[in-house]
Amino acid sequence: MQAHRGSSGQSGENAARVTRSRLSVDVSGERVLKGEPVGSGFAIGPAFIAGEAPAIEPGSRLSHLSREEELSRFHEAVERSIAQLRKLQHRIARLPEESQVEIGPLLEVYQRMLGPSRLQKGVLSRLEEGLTAEAAVQEATEELAGLMVATPDENGLTGEDAAAAERRAGEFREIGRRLIRNLGREPFLSLAAMPDGAILVAETLRPADAAMIDPARVVAVVLEDGGTTGHTAIMLRALGVPAVLAVAGVLDHMHDGVTLVVDGYAGTVTVDPSARTLRQARKQVAAYVQERQQLGRMRRLASRMASGEKIVLQANLELPAELPLIAQSGAAGIGLLRTEFLFINAETLPDEAAQYDIYAAIVSTMGADTTTIRVLDWGGEKQAEALARAGIAGRDVVNPALGLRGIRLLLEHPELLETQFSAILRAAAKGPVRVLLPMVTVASEIIAAREIYDRVARRLKRKGIDIGESLPPLGIMIETPAAALTAGVLAQYADFLAIGSNDLTMYLLAADRASSEVAALYNPLHPAVLRMIGDIVMAGLMERCPVSLCGEIASDTALTPLLIGLGCRSFSMSASAVPRVKQVIRSLDYDACRQLARRVLAETDAEGIHKQLKRFRTV
Ligand code: PEP
Ligand code: MG
Repeated sequence: MQAHRGSSGQSGENAARVTRSRLSVDVSGERVLKGEPVGSGFAIGPAFIAGEAPAIEPGSRLSHLSREEELSRFHEAVERSIAQLRKLQHRIARLPEESQVEIGPLLEVYQRMLGPSRLQKGVLSRLEEGLTAEAAVQEATEELAGLMVATPDENGLTGEDAAAAERRAGEFREIGRRLIRNLGREPFLSLAAMPDGAILVAETLRPADAAMIDPARVVAVVLEDGGTTGHTAIMLRALGVPAVLAVAGVLDHMHDGVTLVVDGYAGTVTVDPSARTLRQARKQVAAYVQERQQLGRMRRLASRMASGEKIVLQANLELPAELPLIAQSGAAGIGLLRTEFLFINAETLPDEAAQYDIYAAIVSTMGADTTTIRVLDWGGEKQAEALARAGIAGRDVVNPALGLRGIRLLLEHPELLETQFSAILRAAAKGPVRVLLPMVTVASEIIAAREIYDRVARRLKRKGIDIGESLPPLGIMIETPAAALTAGVLAQYADFLAIGSNDLTMYLLAADRASSEVAALYNPLHPAVLRMIGDIVMAGLMERCPVSLCGEIASDTALTPLLIGLGCRSFSMSASAVPRVKQVIRSLDYDACRQLARRVLAETDAEGIHKQLKRFRTV
């Protein structure tokens, strides 16, 4: 069986990851540096050390030019920036589909920021005050970036929310830097002197510079800073350029031209490799090139196991901008549409019309493929200004993850649920839809939600609004231990079950999914989590209630055979993971997966389970 290696963040890999030393030296003289893997394969080549591009200062604040002149300089810079981004967009059209999927939406976000936006408004008002265009851009982008990371309470943002806010702030800063460079006509990072086939080594790399990298010329990237969820990492992963980030002191350990071996999966950089390491690395590079060629062909191939069983692969969607990616991924519909994006940065609650427009557009785009829309899952560590302002959320609670979250909040404020149901039911006239309730713990929550659902449907029908013949199926997330242990009972009230392994792992192991302090304890390979997933699937089967799995582990190819062996036949994951997971599925034999699941369930700890998975992959 082929070795299955996936993108970074795989829990199968992480489960056995131990604290790593940053440098080791071998008897041959080769040095191995360690950092954070970006998970895009292997490369061998000479180091090219790129000096940091000089920072551009916006200069003096007040302009000696007229307002009209500064305004026209700003408009020119905007036009130049848009032209550059369009050029980038053309360039990415030639990249592998997987890469387009990652970079495309970001380029669109940048272009939108350059159009009529809060950023433009901020710049124009500063130009009115007599500032230079550079200072106006600098201040306006900093203000917006600051707003993004400003925390609504003293507890601050944590985990995924903090990372998302940082990314968004980074986007504002990034577009600001592009505008300032274009105002001064300064070039971006120039790689003109870099020989083809070299490995770029730098202290830092901005996403815009990363996007300019030609994967045909730059075989790998090694950076001193950066994080695996930042935009630079996303770009590099999307471009398929193997990379290792956050390699402490990397520039002290090498000189221009020294041979490097980069392992973007393990996060290692071998400086001056021995003949043996080089031989091994060449084999890995060849296997990786072959793997990429195969992934490109996956979209058109059936999601069927080697032994014939069909496995449903759907996509998760967090932002409408991701929609084109889903079509490109070959996913069979949307298994989880998280509607939180409608509320997260909103100043007021989105009304029915605003919600309908978005749901209807998504459902129409998906055509005959089903869209599973989850109603608002708010609470826990998530904060929303609009909800706080409406007096709905944001109260101080000791344990927010155990408070008024998901369906609990919606049933406490049924007007929220009614508006959302109404918008979804109307959108369902455009194509197949399913509706999903988050954070359910007890059947009475499903009964209460269904009463509201039916009432809203009756009201729409009375008004003569077309909502189709039968109501879309109403399903529930199984993401609390209570729901998991009573899945058989809940399945009698729900039309389908969706296992939310992210929260299920958190609540089952009492380890916050967003806390780095308990990251080692938050392990989906814990036998309790895996047994629970197996039991949920079985309960669904007994009640003839369809079950899918939509947590992060669905995209972890190391876990695919095990999850199938536990009975999962339907998964929903990030669009970019679909081809890779499909490729693994097509290589698997169902009986072998069942046997693997049996062996895993006999293990008593995560380490033993990790070894079983590893053994399965290498057999
Ligand atoms: C989950 O908990 O696994 C899930 C899919 O929901 P979310 O990540 O949105 O909480
Ligand atoms: Mg969840």
